[in-house]
Amino acid sequence: APSILWFRQDLRLSDNAALIAAAHEGPFAAIYILDDKAPAANAMGGAQRWWLHHSLTALARSLEEKGVELILRRGESIAELDALKKETGATRIFAARQYEPWWQAVDDRLDDRLTLHDGSYLAPPETIRTGSGGRYKIFTPYWRALQQQMPPAAPRAVPTGITGTNARSDRLADWKLLPTTPDWSKGFGDWNPGEEGAKTALHDFLDEAANYDRARNMPSEEGTSRLSPHMHFGEISPATIWHRISETKGNRGEPFLREIGWRDYAANTIDQFAHYGSANARDSFDRLKWRKGSEADADFGAWTRGRTGYPIVDAGMRQLWTTGWMHNRVRMIVASFLIKHLLIDWQRGERWFWDTLVDADYNSNSVNWQWVAGTGVDSNMFVRIMAPLVQSEKFDAGDYIRQWVPELAALPDATIHDPHGAGCAPADYPTPLIGHREGRERALAAYRAMKA
Ligand code: FAD
Repeated sequence: APSILWFRQDLRLSDNAALIAAAHEGPFAAIYILDDKAPAANAMGGAQRWWLHHSLTALARSLEEKGVELILRRGESIAELDALKKETGATRIFAARQYEPWWQAVDDRLDDRLTLHDGSYLAPPETIRTGSGGRYKIFTPYWRALQQQMPPAAPRAVPTGITGTNARSDRLADWKLLPTTPDWSKGFGDWNPGEEGAKTALHDFLDEAANYDRARNMPSEEGTSRLSPHMHFGEISPATIWHRISETKGNRGEPFLREIGWRDYAANTIDQFAHYGSANARDSFDRLKWRKGSEADADFGAWTRGRTGYPIVDAGMRQLWTTGWMHNRVRMIVASFLIKHLLIDWQRGERWFWDTLVDADYNSNSVNWQWVAGTGVDSNMFVRIMAPLVQSEKFDAGDYIRQWVPELAALPDATIHDPHGAGCAPADYPTPLIGHREGRERALAAYRAMKA
């Protein structure tokens, strides 16, 4: 009997342990299921649907070159898998292990029908243990222990002579994953979703990797890899990245690999605290009086549209809307601004990112939002309030602001970070929603009230 190869967030052929295992058994039916029920509130956002459309197109093409059809189905994973088993006579299902709680729940229900394979992370998070066998909660010791298990096993090639089993498939176009009107994806043109695009992104980054430690904090430079959406969709394995980076001569790869380690750490957190995306890990923050109501809603709307009057924040939010991605340093600044200066619950920001990021990832998104908010399992940073103007100057964001906030493009470096403060803001640029000192004091007062 054939088996089933179930693609989820592992849309690649290379170094895919589930594919290798399925191929070893003989012919397999390769399926992707668009399941919006299992993730419930975490159903894929708009930007990711755009990515998924193109990534599935690429996957279907590379499978077809091997003579294998990619079967597309929409519905509940378990029902669709059971239907496909009946249609094809398949007995076993092979898939890559995921740590999102909804996938874990589906996998538990499939129990012995399903064989799971690792490879979506540098190491399975549950294998990284303290001396006494416990789990890590903090990044640095997790990273130290993870490095003890590195390098990961060498990436494995696509097996030769794989055979597919055909079955009825939806037409991808009928899923309507791409936006129609308005088409907000016009600025997504630099992305190249799929396994080839992932390889190219890594290749292009290899020359830059030596400068990463300095350049990664400079939003106006292309100093980072932009591998995040490729990694989220599993178009390239972390082990492949690890080996390519460490083999490259003259490359001080460590700072970059450490960031890949953050991705593993986020999965390690979610594996222990499944509801991290929707609840404060420190429940004392449930008592914090976030701003609510129409004034807060208007401020939230201005934040989403990049009209806060803080150029660095506005540049980031417009880059996000236009390209589906935002520079990491700027993600920290805009998140901190929303949470502290606007005193709006981090979960509203997390939701906006979920819908607009091509790399939206339940693990990384919720772990980073709770980290900035100080509500997470690691340090409480609520009282450390980033000053957006200082950040903007320190990370030399002048050119970045010029690119994304064109109404400020003519301003010199000396005034572009704070045009209102310098008295030279153009008429069409909004006044700041709140002053830095005022926002800071309001946040600290809310924090003190929560503690009292
Ligand atoms: P590089 O600097 O080239 O890093 C290489 C890879 O390491 C990334 O592709 C990513 O897979 C991983 N990585 C880097 N930084 C982090 C980090 N802090 N946490 C986890 N993984 C990391 N990243 C996501 O992939 N998905 C998200 O939904 C997401 N939401 C975020 C929300 C906030 C508020 C913040 C502050 C950060 C968030 N990040 C998220 C982390 C980080 O901003 C992005 O991974 C990074 O900007 C992606 O760009 P890059 O691929 O060029 O990164």
